Amino acid sequence: MIDSHIDIPWNEKTAEGLPCWHKRDQADVAMRDVERRFTVPKAQAGGMGVACLAAYTPQAGLDDAGHEAAWQRARAMLEAMEEMVPLHLSGQAVLCRRVPDIRRATEAGQVALVPVMENGYPLADDPARIGYLARRHGVRYMTLTHNGHNLLADSAVVRQGPAEVHGGLSALGREVIGEMNRHGVLVDVSHASRKTMMQAVDASSVPVFASHSCVRALCDHPRNLDDGQLDALKASGGLIQITAMGPFLRRGGGGTLKDFVEHVLYVARRIGVEHVGISSDFDGGGGIEGWQDASETHHVSEALAVAGLDAGEIRAICGENMLRLLQRAEDKISKCQT
Ligand SMILES: [Zn+2]
Repeated sequence: MIDSHIDIPWNEKTAEGLPCWHKRDQADVAMRDVERRFTVPKAQAGGMGVACLAAYTPQAGLDDAGHEAAWQRARAMLEAMEEMVPLHLSGQAVLCRRVPDIRRATEAGQVALVPVMENGYPLADDPARIGYLARRHGVRYMTLTHNGHNLLADSAVVRQGPAEVHGGLSALGREVIGEMNRHGVLVDVSHASRKTMMQAVDASSVPVFASHSCVRALCDHPRNLDDGQLDALKASGGLIQITAMGPFLRRGGGGTLKDFVEHVLYVARRIGVEHVGISSDFDGGGGIEGWQDASETHHVSEALAVAGLDAGEIRAICGENMLRLLQRAEDKISKCQT
């Protein structure tokens, strides 16, 4: 079972005034009886074998100071993930960069933690930062935006200002996608505007995916993908990871695991079972009746079985589709290096 979007705690301030992942919070990830929806023991209890942990940076001003603070924060978050494993999780979890590492970890009964990024804002105007993040920290995917436009692209949700500034991707955004393809970093279109997403499908040489989004035909929310976008994902070989976020599942919120399964089935029927997966958005607002925390992850596969899916289909949705896409990105790295 792969969960493609989990947030890590990042609340405290360092002496320099930067937010950080306090050592105590890091230790919490190794415990069962804490408030957090994701902890490694909860993942183990629920049969979640792979957890993609997001280094998230909120969208702020498009000035040097804002970009620099976001770059510092993103790297500090990735470093915190790295130090957490030897400090608190040895034997229980392992940080993984490649699909063979992920498979080895899960076969050994360890939770595979995969570092990813939410928001391309920390890149500022420097596409080379992608190579650094991939090589130094093993980042495997990055959303182009969060809520709010950045230098790369327009976002689906804008809290203030114009509905769009680039008309989708900027020239810089296209350059960044080229760098992502070269370094095995998947293009994550969750949070992107419709135009950004559709342009990214064409601009990327590796299929794009949405790490935490739902179906717009079932719930009209700007964060969700409409039928045209789903069809574009199918045509390009991409993937949507339905997410356990109540307001994306049902208008007005309050979505449950039953709604979650409806969204999965809608995608499976429209574009095929090989183009859909699952994500929780735990500790970032996600968690629904029936899948409240990582210890309940097995409820998802059980609900898919009750809905009539067979074991092969459930395996595809719960992990193999995502691994296939990560593998495609990895194959591309070796091709670029030869
Ligand atoms: Zn998000």
